[in-house]
Amino acid sequence: VATGDPQLERLNALLRVAATDNTFHAPRLSGVQLAGWDDLRTLPLMTRDELRADQAQHPPFGTNHSYSLERYTQMHLTRGASGKRICVLETQEDAQRWTDRGRAVLAAAGVRASDRVSIVARGLGTRMASWSALEGAKALGALVVPLEGTDPLERIGAIRDYATTIVLCRPGDALQLAEVAEQQDLVGALDSVRALVCTGEPGASVPALRERIEAGWQARCFDYATLAEVGAFAIPCHEHGGMHLVEDDFVFEFLEPHSSEPLTGPGPAELVITGLARVGFPVIRYRTGDIVEVSQAPCPSGHPGSWLPAGILGRVDDTVVIRGRTVFPFAIEQALRACSEVVSFRIMLESDRAARDDVKVEAELADPLEGRSLAAALSERLGLRVRIVPLRPGTLTQVSDPSGAQIPRPSRPEVAEL
Ligand SMILES: [Zn+2]
Repeated sequence: VATGDPQLERLNALLRVAATDNTFHAPRLSGVQLAGWDDLRTLPLMTRDELRADQAQHPPFGTNHSYSLERYTQMHLTRGASGKRICVLETQEDAQRWTDRGRAVLAAAGVRASDRVSIVARGLGTRMASWSALEGAKALGALVVPLEGTDPLERIGAIRDYATTIVLCRPGDALQLAEVAEQQDLVGALDSVRALVCTGEPGASVPALRERIEAGWQARCFDYATLAEVGAFAIPCHEHGGMHLVEDDFVFEFLEPHSSEPLTGPGPAELVITGLARVGFPVIRYRTGDIVEVSQAPCPSGHPGSWLPAGILGRVDDTVVIRGRTVFPFAIEQALRACSEVVSFRIMLESDRAARDDVKVEAELADPLEGRSLAAALSERLGLRVRIVPLRPGTLTQVSDPSGAQIPRPSRPEVAEL
């Protein structure tokens, strides 16, 4: 099919290879060619569970490889919540692409040849995110200081001893290291760090969490997105926070959460990705399980790629549906943190028909009369009936974590850990 659209022709070429040379995709894509982008929706969605099941059935590599095994030079592992690993095979050409992408991610965060880059790693060679960051940092001419092991004090010591300027880690690691440094009176050990580049779990673009990281480190915090099965697909926006989708090499779709239907209008959506560049291990309409909200306008600096101002908001598995609306607990948490009157809070996501509310929030308020206006503001923002139960300050704090939140931090066990 001649379409005149170079990206569509790339996808059709990939579909031809996948349908003929790839045992995983062949039965799903036999004879499929797209005449236009609307046809993409006719292809089957692909899930992590399908990859995992295929590799269990055809150990150890599964059947999602378009070439003979000799052509691959590297493999990455990703572990799911079940602990069952998935392996991803890369050719030399793929490895070069991820090196280039790692370099682009770090360059977008302002990393230069004079920097010393410390990578908090759980397996520097096996994990896609840490490996591509390592190669990208080297390609920029920076000095890489690996931080292996698990002891935060050892990591802080290495950052101090080697005068690290950039730290690559998960947002949870960034918070933990800053907290340990403060508790141990070692805040000065982090003085040389001027930026953190986070990935591996959602949150580093969500303003409330980013501000905590930036305050703890007295450094800037950037965010990017990598999945071992897909590659790095979003790079930091240096000026405005959040990330930009890499639209040269990927096709992005946005689905209604908990559905296979495309999102209509604005709002949170599950991100579905088709990779155009990697032929050796194709991902076609891959359900990431990540929830994003794409900006209707480009970022104010006009950088290329659709802008995700708050990055990845969380995982589909973490959302709940109330009265037909998808509610993301992190959005409620963020709205509460934005209210200076709230000291500490607990969110209950159960509908109480008798009380005519959808979400109940127990909040410690210096002035209990603030509860009414807070409930109105939250109800408007979330489109749900929010009831605030005002509590005296100190009521919740005894059992709360230092941040005051009573809901668990979003974790992201399915993605490529650093
Ligand atoms: Zn931008």
